[in-house]
Amino acid sequence: MVTFLKQYQELLTKLKAWNEAYYLNDAPVVEDAVYDAHMQELLALEKVNPEIIREDSPSQNVGAKLSSTKFGKVKHEIPMISLANAFGPEEIREWEERVNRIIGEETKRDYVFELKIDGLSIAIDYKDGNMVRAATRGDGKVGEDVTENVRTITTLPQEVNVETLQLGSNFQIRGEIFINKSDFVKINEEQTRLGGTIYANPRNTASGSLRQLDSKVTASRKLDAIFYSLFPQAKTHTESLKQLEEYGFKTNAANNKVCKTIDEVIELYEYWQENKNNLDYEIDGAVVKINQIDLQTTLGSTAKSPRWAIALKFAAEIAETQIESVDYELGRLGTITPVANLSPVQLAGTTVKRATLHNFDQVARLGVRVGDWVNVRKAGEIIPEIVSVNLGKRGETQTIEVPVACPVCGSEVENEDVSYRCTNVASCPAQVLRRIQHWCSKGAMDISGVGPALVATLLENNLIKTPLDLYRLKLEDITGIERMAEKSSQNAIDSIRASRSQGFSRFLFALGIKHVGINVAELVASYFPDLAILESELLNNKGESLVKVDGLGPKIIESLQEFFESDTYKEFKALLQEQAELLDIQSNEAKQVGTRLEGSSFVITGTLTESRSHYEDLIKINGGKVSSAISKKTSYLLCGENAGSKHDKAEQLGVKILNEKEFHELL
Ligand code: NAD
Repeated sequence: MVTFLKQYQELLTKLKAWNEAYYLNDAPVVEDAVYDAHMQELLALEKVNPEIIREDSPSQNVGAKLSSTKFGKVKHEIPMISLANAFGPEEIREWEERVNRIIGEETKRDYVFELKIDGLSIAIDYKDGNMVRAATRGDGKVGEDVTENVRTITTLPQEVNVETLQLGSNFQIRGEIFINKSDFVKINEEQTRLGGTIYANPRNTASGSLRQLDSKVTASRKLDAIFYSLFPQAKTHTESLKQLEEYGFKTNAANNKVCKTIDEVIELYEYWQENKNNLDYEIDGAVVKINQIDLQTTLGSTAKSPRWAIALKFAAEIAETQIESVDYELGRLGTITPVANLSPVQLAGTTVKRATLHNFDQVARLGVRVGDWVNVRKAGEIIPEIVSVNLGKRGETQTIEVPVACPVCGSEVENEDVSYRCTNVASCPAQVLRRIQHWCSKGAMDISGVGPALVATLLENNLIKTPLDLYRLKLEDITGIERMAEKSSQNAIDSIRASRSQGFSRFLFALGIKHVGINVAELVASYFPDLAILESELLNNKGESLVKVDGLGPKIIESLQEFFESDTYKEFKALLQEQAELLDIQSNEAKQVGTRLEGSSFVITGTLTESRSHYEDLIKINGGKVSSAISKKTSYLLCGENAGSKHDKAEQLGVKILNEKEFHELL
């Protein structure tokens, strides 16, 4: 309880400080993605523990409190609240479900899709058709009077012809003030020429420009505005937008769209995610609003945001955050990977807390240290990685040391190329765990009922030590484990059983040999279709036929050889032989790889140490033929113990007779 309250307190402190920097000083200290991720954490904590929600929590308040301001204060008659966020299609569908729970699924409604301009909101009052006052949002209840500065916006009509107005001559408009990207570039060019400050981004420059005491400075920044609300409202939001336009206010008519379904909304969102850079202003997502005002009224608002609208934010592809610490993770081959624990950041629709640093060469190349501000990217949309360090922000940091001993078992570490590896292959607990998890994984033996967490639990409870032990588990062994339900235990047992007869290529991949991924395993198994054949190729034939297989380089063959000669394999093989009944691996279809037996035909008889199909495969992949009946044309009889009539017939016909040893010599 204490740690969770502490976490809550820390989040509150951070978010409040960031709000002040962003809203009051126009100088954010973290990226929006970092802010958003922390806000999501706060919301998640508050959702589970509503009793802890404090009145001053940033989740309950808009913007930042205006303690002292250089401008006059303006009370908002209609509060200027914020918007709740949805990060991606899944969350916008969840919003629709929440809406449906209130208004009913069957209620007809339209969704208005608008671009979410990344600027700052403004409320402007008109009396008798004349602009009288403009105020910032402030904390939603009280804003700052920036009337004189807003008058410098040339695209804003300061009076409208009251004769034509349908809603009376007193009204309020609301919209977003921003700086166009092209103007922002010009401002910075001018700043460079003057040797002044270079501004970081258009949003904060717009906010800073609007809140200048000297409106001449504001005028020089060429602010622009687009409007999206009108009070009093018409019957629908789109009608209000149309009226705004008719009065001469700039709306985003070209890009606002009315959608009948959430699918249409998502389609537009995806379009703008791709095309946002073609606009001359910055957008950070879309705003989706229910069009019908009566439905808006039914849905209402929370203290902070309306339920009838939502900000659908774009997924950041790259985001900046800080490294809090570094863990050393061990892979199934003992390779030690440095993994950074990050200050949470919102990236491509998810909260990212960890990112790989790949290896210590990469650490050196990036020059990254614990405490650094780094840019994180989602590589292939799956594993986040650190791409660069923001040296300009470097404060107190610590070096990321290359481990001198295995961080898990303390054994010696060896260095090969860019990797550092724990040498305790046989019993380093982390390597054993990873190997068994790999054995169970989808591409390997595909034991879906035994996930990574269950493998860890089985090891902890001493129920398994090697992958083969899985096949001896009984239902009661698993159900005996704390918190394992009978259904999932049965599922585990069933999927272990189903994996007994996987094909050889999966088994080969499951062995977890260095450089032998799924594709290589399939390739190898298509020429060397079972374990005995492959082992004989590597140990007796020294991999000579493997070399001929297109796609198998020397690194792979060397690694296979090393593995089959290793003690780990020998121990595994011994266990496998002792308990041959546990597995029933199916041979793969064999392709011909050698020509050594080309033109020779074989007949097999008697009891051999390997299965008959094993020898058949060996003969076929070396170009020979196998038949069942012996004749004058038969080249060889491969003869095991207790051979019967075939042996005699071969002698009669003068067919050469080979025992297993001689057969291998022939090969
Ligand atoms: P918001 O910016 O997420 O959404 C509400 C605002 O969207 C409205 O007030 C309005 O100004 C704007 N908007 C733009 N187009 C609109 C349209 N078509 N219709 C309606 N509104 C539209 O909410 P917020 O509370 O102003 O700010 C929160 C966001 O600001 C955070 O998600 C974060 O990204 C950023 N922030 C960053 C920091 C930081 O330190 N980096 C600190 C505080 C806030």
